[in-house]
Amino acid sequence: MPPSTEDRPLDAAEPPQNAQATNPAVTPIGDRHPGANGAAAPVPGAASSAPGNPPPSAGGILDAILTSKSELFRGSREILRDSYVPSRLPHREEQIRRVAEILAPALRGDLPSNILIYGKIGTGKTAVVAQIRQDIQRRTDLSSGVTFVTLNCGNIDTPYSLLQTIANGLAKSEADRIPTGWSLDRVQSGMRRLMDTRGGILLLVLDEIDRLVARSGDNILYTLSQINTELETARLAIIGISNDLKFTNHIDARVRSRLNEEKVLFPPYDAMQLQDILRDRAREAFREGVVDPGVVERCAAYAALENGDARRALALLRLAAEMAERDRAKRITPDHVVKAKNRLEQDIIVDCCRTLPPHCKVLLYAILQSFERRRNGVLTGEVYDSYRRLAERLGLQPLHARSISNYVSELESLGLIRATIVSRGRGGRTREIIVDVPISETMPALEEDPLIAPVGRPKPRGQMLLTNFDNPARTDTF
Ligand code: ADP
Ligand code: MG
Repeated sequence: MPPSTEDRPLDAAEPPQNAQATNPAVTPIGDRHPGANGAAAPVPGAASSAPGNPPPSAGGILDAILTSKSELFRGSREILRDSYVPSRLPHREEQIRRVAEILAPALRGDLPSNILIYGKIGTGKTAVVAQIRQDIQRRTDLSSGVTFVTLNCGNIDTPYSLLQTIANGLAKSEADRIPTGWSLDRVQSGMRRLMDTRGGILLLVLDEIDRLVARSGDNILYTLSQINTELETARLAIIGISNDLKFTNHIDARVRSRLNEEKVLFPPYDAMQLQDILRDRAREAFREGVVDPGVVERCAAYAALENGDARRALALLRLAAEMAERDRAKRITPDHVVKAKNRLEQDIIVDCCRTLPPHCKVLLYAILQSFERRRNGVLTGEVYDSYRRLAERLGLQPLHARSISNYVSELESLGLIRATIVSRGRGGRTREIIVDVPISETMPALEEDPLIAPVGRPKPRGQMLLTNFDNPARTDTF
């Protein structure tokens, strides 16, 4: 199946995939989001600069900025974001054809093979699957019996929440949803019931499946991969997406052979391919003539050095445009790309923190708090204690030390912390953790999350009390 070039207006942003992750069931096609288009209709009262008009309110000023025409952008800025699924995916024709061929039997009501899609980060895996999902949904109506459930396992802590999220993605009403508090067995049978109620072919996309296995092992994949023996009217195929090429080495041979029925590799892009991807996107996003020669080439060259990551290339272009706007420039120049590159490292850290699963965020926050207090390495035992206290304060049931130890490794592999083994006499060994990110950027990023906000530090404005929960005697005034 060729990539779809159907009649999508250039400035109609697709609903973000994050939204699909929270409600992963079918997104109605053609469900346009009002206001997704940057050139929205003016808001009444937004621009009141005419003489004699009352001064604009803060809201009015914000509205005016939002609705004022950008010199650079043609329409929605979402076009340069990861969540936007472009209508064309150059240099992925072969992968699109393979995945579409494998999934095509679903359109006839037959169960497709399970697929494992793997390749480094930013090689278009999520985008290709999202595009094929849209294409399949365009060719089926809701009653025709193909249902996609798409989850990003990176945001999910436990097998329990994985099953609950799958089930709730299939729930048609609030009353069908599975509440927290049921036993794992009950969630599992509830999920099967919801699958059978939906019936037909269920295509379960487990994005970042490698992170699920690193955290929770492969038992849950075993359960899912043999669920067809227990379903009555529905049948499930799994589309696993992994950023880790060696991921299958870590799973049980039975699970591996089931998930691996078909394998599709996504190689990294080279600089020329990245240029094509960026040019397409730039054409959609920017007004004609505002991107100087050399801008696309430079973004592509930087990203090609970073493992051919298209996400990095797009982020550079987006940031370069923001830098140009900040300079009130009429064009984006190669110098803006250089500035963007310097900013990007910090943004990547902050974005990375925002997408961690809940308990991992709490753990990182606990580590940052301890490190901020001590400015010194923290031992894993102490980290676990602070995590547990923080989780309890937030009303969460703390995870076991073992899961937290896996999260420590994950935070380390993301480059957010460094853990070194230290011996503690008599053969005892533990890990000492050092924070590897700027605390001043990372803590506020985590505090933006409603999960962390209740224990976050008050904004340093005016006189506020900061309760030091670990030591209430040391409550500081800001
Ligand atoms: P992965 O899932 O492999 O990490 P994504 O699918 O999230 O990568 O791609 C990262 C970003 O790059 C997304 O914004 C995506 O739309 C874009 N992208 C990747 N490959 C292409 C391509 N061939 N054409 C256009 N955009 C692409
Ligand atoms: Mg992805």
